[in-house]
Amino acid sequence: MSYRVILVIADGMADRPIKELGLKTPLESAVKPNLDRIAENGVCGIMDPIAPGIPPGSDTATLAMLGYDPWKTYSGRGALEAEGSGVKVLPGDVAFRCNFATVNDDLLVLDRRAGRIANEDAAKLAVSLDRIKLKQSLKVRFLFKNTIQHRAILVISGPKLSSAVSDSDPETARKKVQDVKPLDSSVEAKRTAQIVNMLMRAFHKVLLEHPVNRLRAKRNLPVANMILCRGAGTIPKIPTLQEKFEIRPACVAAVSLIKGVSKVAGMDVINVKGATGTVQTNYMAKAKAAVQALKKHDFVLLHVKATDVASHDGNAKLKVEIIEKIDKMLGYILANVSQDSTYLAVTADHTTSIVTRNHEGDPVPVVIMGPGVRRDDVADFGERTCAKGGLNRIRGLDLMPTLMSLMGKAKKFGA
Ligand code: ZN
Ligand code: ZN
Repeated sequence: MSYRVILVIADGMADRPIKELGLKTPLESAVKPNLDRIAENGVCGIMDPIAPGIPPGSDTATLAMLGYDPWKTYSGRGALEAEGSGVKVLPGDVAFRCNFATVNDDLLVLDRRAGRIANEDAAKLAVSLDRIKLKQSLKVRFLFKNTIQHRAILVISGPKLSSAVSDSDPETARKKVQDVKPLDSSVEAKRTAQIVNMLMRAFHKVLLEHPVNRLRAKRNLPVANMILCRGAGTIPKIPTLQEKFEIRPACVAAVSLIKGVSKVAGMDVINVKGATGTVQTNYMAKAKAAVQALKKHDFVLLHVKATDVASHDGNAKLKVEIIEKIDKMLGYILANVSQDSTYLAVTADHTTSIVTRNHEGDPVPVVIMGPGVRRDDVADFGERTCAKGGLNRIRGLDLMPTLMSLMGKAKKFGA
């Protein structure tokens, strides 16, 4: 028998009891017959995505859940975002996430998103920035590409570069643009900081005089006169999932960070029309794509961002609605995969609290349903109910070996 896995990760779905919901969590408040059916027929537990009390990023948590130790493999967000946006990052390159922003003459940030500049304007500006020539003696090349609205990617290539540099993005408006500083004493970090600062100044100069910005000023739109960069990263040196577990993996995700993690893990990234990474995403199209992907792959990661978006907005009611939509996706999956040969696992990459509007270090619920799993008494999928389940409390890093063992892909340790 050859087995398959669909791993559904609802970003930031786990939460804490909320007053507004009568001291229930959004998961506990949602009407979710399919999730409950999966819990009833599966083995449940709670999971520390990284370790107890460590609030995970979506990138580090996803790496862990795919079987990569995040403490050893994580090398910054920038390169993962770049890969996820379709920009190739090679070993040695340093990549940054960037924003088009509006600053005043004193370099005080007025708008970190330049009025959420439209794609067309950002694209024209990006072309001009990408053409800037650096001094040949520096021996570096760079690539600058806009992605969605105010977002962009910068990749620097050349010898002796380091991702140990700080951000120029002050993260909040009404603060000054920061100088990029080396974060260790290496020659590489110092040189990279110098190059990035040089680029940021060159970008600013070109943007100040750009016809697109003149037109924006005329139309009373915020001018995109500065690039802010953050999250310097290199590509993690990791074996692919094929190499690690001998599986054919695919990923259905909309947000570039998760696509990037999936790409570096060697997964086929499937783009779905209508999948946006927002709360209005086409949930059903993603579920269909995941089921479809099982025809050519034996491991499919299905990632939904919307639960995290609602949490950061502090919108409990919306979070409950989104969980109910995810439940319908699961209903479609249950009805359309062979339950004799498919494992369905559902979890969250971290807790995102409606109250704090942040990622928190609490464990998340997890369930695995499929042939031969040791069913437990949990029949209701929630943060507190799952704590009584048969998986007990595992780490994110334990999830993949657990699934691989069920699939018959685990190698025996010892004689
Ligand atoms: Zn996340
Ligand atoms: Zn988040």
